Amino acid sequence: MKRKVHIFSLSVILIFSLLIFAGCSSSSKEVANSEKEAANSKEEVENSQKGVVNLYTDRHYDTDEQLLNLFTEETGIKVNLVKGKSDELIERLSREGKDTQADLLITADAGRLHRAKEKELLQPVKSEVLFNNIPENLRDKDNEWFGLTVRGRVIVYAKDRVDPSELSTYEYLTNAKWKGKILVRSSSNIYNQSLLASLIAINGEEEAKKWAKGIVENMAREPKGNDRDQAKAVVAGEGDIAIMNTYYVGKMLNSSDAEEVKVAKQVGVFFPNQEGTGTHINVSGVGLTKYAKNKENAIKLMEFLSSEKAQKQFAEANYEYPANPSIEPSELLKSWGEFKTQNINLSQLGEYNTKAVQIFNEVGWK
Ligand code: FE
Repeated sequence: MKRKVHIFSLSVILIFSLLIFAGCSSSSKEVANSEKEAANSKEEVENSQKGVVNLYTDRHYDTDEQLLNLFTEETGIKVNLVKGKSDELIERLSREGKDTQADLLITADAGRLHRAKEKELLQPVKSEVLFNNIPENLRDKDNEWFGLTVRGRVIVYAKDRVDPSELSTYEYLTNAKWKGKILVRSSSNIYNQSLLASLIAINGEEEAKKWAKGIVENMAREPKGNDRDQAKAVVAGEGDIAIMNTYYVGKMLNSSDAEEVKVAKQVGVFFPNQEGTGTHINVSGVGLTKYAKNKENAIKLMEFLSSEKAQKQFAEANYEYPANPSIEPSELLKSWGEFKTQNINLSQLGEYNTKAVQIFNEVGWK
């Protein structure tokens, strides 16, 4: 009997112990779970604090997306992209006004960036990082936009018909020697407007007008097509010389279209005005929108894109020169040689845009 009681009490103790143990383990699980939940929600809060940045861009390169992913990895800031054509994005920003979701605008040509500024779509950014990375002539005077990549607007010539020693300046293209030989796109295009604006800034209005008139007189045909079409017309023998942006030669050399590669191999790139005023350059750049809701994140992304880490890849995606002078251009661009650039602040391309358009109309550059 005594022994039975003993066994009974042992069993009771054992059962109690098991119950207590089970209770303990389930409550320690609860503690662990709730700690995990707390950690998760902390992470969510931190993520939402790091937040997003919304970017309107006219670029569409896979390498851009890799770069933006790197930015997200480093900062935790998510980048949302809205891709579109340059003028349409500016139009959209203007239409959306205060309600816009866009924090940043990336688009080509200082003239166009200036247009966005004049429409009061941008705001100034004071960032030592940007001031250090982007040279003063490649950014807006009021810091409303910053150049990120640089292109030259150069003379492209038929290698089999033109000796580069015959070429010298933009101005020399108006010489009778080139009558019926010059191919260039329409004056409605911003690249030509910015080129003429640069000549107004450097040579004055009268000289710039003489130049535009002289080019019209030497045109091989009425302006038509885009920059690439001018190179194609050179190779087809319609003229000997085209005025076009450097990166199109790079794009054609690397094109999936065999015809474009063939064309690009038959033309040479000449940087005009090396003895004097320098070759006309322009930028693709970024501006903080006036109604940016994620201003801090947006400035972080601007700074990232100007950094050594991002610049090489960002410029190479479009066969352009990095705006940050501490980065070397790609091998292809280096093979064209170093060149002297026009010594003007690119803001002036925007400031003289209206004048340039007026001159084009006056001289009949279609
Ligand atoms: Fe272009």
